[in-house]
Amino acid sequence: LSARELAIGVDIGGTKIGAGTVNSNGRVLDRLVIPMPQDGAASALAAICGAVAELRRRAEAPVLAVGAGAAGAVEQPAGIIRAAPNNAYRELRLGDALAAAVDLPVVVENDANVAAVGEARFGAGAGHTHSITITVGTGVGGGIVIDGQLYRGSSGLGGEVGHIAVSPKDGPLCGCGAHGCLETMASGSALTRAARRAAALDPGGTMAMLAGGIAGVGGETATGAARRGDAVALGLFDDVGFWLGVGIASLVNVVDPQIVILAGGVGGSAADLLLEPTTASFQRHLYARDERAHPPIVAARLGADSGLIGAAALVLP
Ligand SMILES: [Zn+2]
Repeated sequence: LSARELAIGVDIGGTKIGAGTVNSNGRVLDRLVIPMPQDGAASALAAICGAVAELRRRAEAPVLAVGAGAAGAVEQPAGIIRAAPNNAYRELRLGDALAAAVDLPVVVENDANVAAVGEARFGAGAGHTHSITITVGTGVGGGIVIDGQLYRGSSGLGGEVGHIAVSPKDGPLCGCGAHGCLETMASGSALTRAARRAAALDPGGTMAMLAGGIAGVGGETATGAARRGDAVALGLFDDVGFWLGVGIASLVNVVDPQIVILAGGVGGSAADLLLEPTTASFQRHLYARDERAHPPIVAARLGADSGLIGAAALVLP
């Protein structure tokens, strides 16, 4: 495999489009960031096609294919983005339209699957064939790679790790309509909710002080306070880590991966606070824990580039 084989990865967000030319070693050779038009599908599509065309024009070797990652439910194999809560478009037939516009093979995936593919191949999972990536941000997403292949299920909806039921009897209502999904117990939103509740009970405490009042308290306040050793904030990370560990144990009991990767705005950037409580809870809930090697839970390595690199990895040979 030559490192000169190139693919373009596109990371489609609510407010901006990131696109990059990536080689078969997972290196980003060129990149563009443009604002996401907010006036519907046609403009969004034109902007994405324009970014791909510009990178292709600048590439020093032929581009083989285009991979794209977007938030929302993506129907396979046509690459139709059915619903994207943070974007102006609905039912965007991105796969077909992009393939027709650029005359190259195109694969479209949801953003959590894209991050999982990127980490599995070029990030913290490199060298392993079986990995699970959990993306902890506003919500909880993830992707499962088995035998080097992304597991999509029969319709593309597989791997929705944020909606495994960990506390259905008394957990909070989830955006999906169920109660006590992992996302309601261990996301950035769950952390913010718990931090506000804790700060309200302790208005003179570190979190309220850091945020200049209870109203400003959020996940970042909790992270800052925990890094200063504040016991209340550390307790919040213990709780999030507990539930993450429960979810990860359930997944590992089914999939049996070699490694579990924590990614996302909270999972990646607060990994120093989350890895210990998460691992402790995971090991407590793991099946046959005394008779098996425990897969390590590690922080993601690709950071903000996981979208670009993972999207390209979808299509790189
Ligand atoms: Zn749910």
